[in-house]
Amino acid sequence: MDASAVTRFAPSPSGYLHLGHAYSALFAARAAAEAGGRFLLRIEDIDQGRARPDFEAAIFEDLAWLGLTWEEPVLRQSERMDLYRAALETLQRQGLVYPCFCTRKEIAAEIARAGAAPHGPQAALYPGTCRGLSEDEREARRAEGRSYALRLDLAAAMAAADAGGPLTWTDRERGVQVCDPRGEGDVVLARKDLGTSYHLSVVVDDAAQGVTLVTRGTDLFEASHLHRLLQALLGLPAPDYHHHRLVTDEAGKRLAKRHDSLTLRSLRDAGQSAAAVIALAEQRALA
Ligand code: GLU
Repeated sequence: MDASAVTRFAPSPSGYLHLGHAYSALFAARAAAEAGGRFLLRIEDIDQGRARPDFEAAIFEDLAWLGLTWEEPVLRQSERMDLYRAALETLQRQGLVYPCFCTRKEIAAEIARAGAAPHGPQAALYPGTCRGLSEDEREARRAEGRSYALRLDLAAAMAAADAGGPLTWTDRERGVQVCDPRGEGDVVLARKDLGTSYHLSVVVDDAAQGVTLVTRGTDLFEASHLHRLLQALLGLPAPDYHHHRLVTDEAGKRLAKRHDSLTLRSLRDAGQSAAAVIALAEQRALA
C-alpha cells in the first residue's frame, strides 16, 4: 500500500470519450484504489479552438456512469496558462529554447529534401531548420511579423540535464529506462497559436498536482522520455509511469474519433450497461 499514491486521467474535451478512454480512466482509478491513494481528473483544454463545454460536461457524465469518482475541484489547463509561460521562461533562461518560423509545408519540404525515409517515426522529426538562425536573422523574421513556435533544442537540453549523470525513469511494466528522448526531436514547447503545448503543460501539471504514478497508453511511451527530461530541466520530481495496452477496434486498429459507435454514450444509448462496457474495454485491450 502506498497511501500517498496519486494517479490521474487527463482527457481533452474535443470529442466524446470512447472505449479506450474508459480503459485508461479505469486503469488510473484502480491503480489509486489498490494503493489506497487518490485519483484525479484533469481537463486538458489548452486548445480552446477544439475544446467544447458540451464535451467537457459529457466527460463528467460518462465517467460517473462508469462508476468513477474523483477529487474536486477538477483542474482545467486553460486556467493555468501563466504557469506554463513561467515554465517556458525557465527553459528559455537556460538557453534551451529557440523560435521556429517554419510552416508545416516548409517542414515537410525540408524533410523530403533531406531524403528522409517516407515512413517511420524519424521521418516526422523536425529537421532543425531554425535552430541555427543567428539573433539578427531571428530579429529580422520577427520584424516581418512572422509568427513562430518555440522549440526545445534537444541536444543542448540533454547535455544540460545529463551533466549530473544519465537521467533515468521507471515504467512499472518495463522497468528502469535510461532517458532517451531523441525519438521526439526538437519538439514544440509553445505552439504558435497557444503559447504552450501538450508536453509542457502535462509536465507542469503532473508535478503541481503531486501525481506520483502517470498511467496512460503505450502510444505515449516515447513522450515519457521527453517528459522526464523536462522534469529534470524544470527541477520537478519524477513520477513513476505505467504505460498500458491500447484498446483496439474489431479490426485491431487503435480507437480514434472516427469510431463513433464505440463512444461511451453511443454504447449506453444502445442499451449497454456500464459493467458490459467495462468488460468490453478490457477485452478489446487484450485483443
Ligand atoms: N490529454 C492527453 C490525451 O488525451 C493526456 C495524455 C496523458 O495522459 O498524458 O492523450
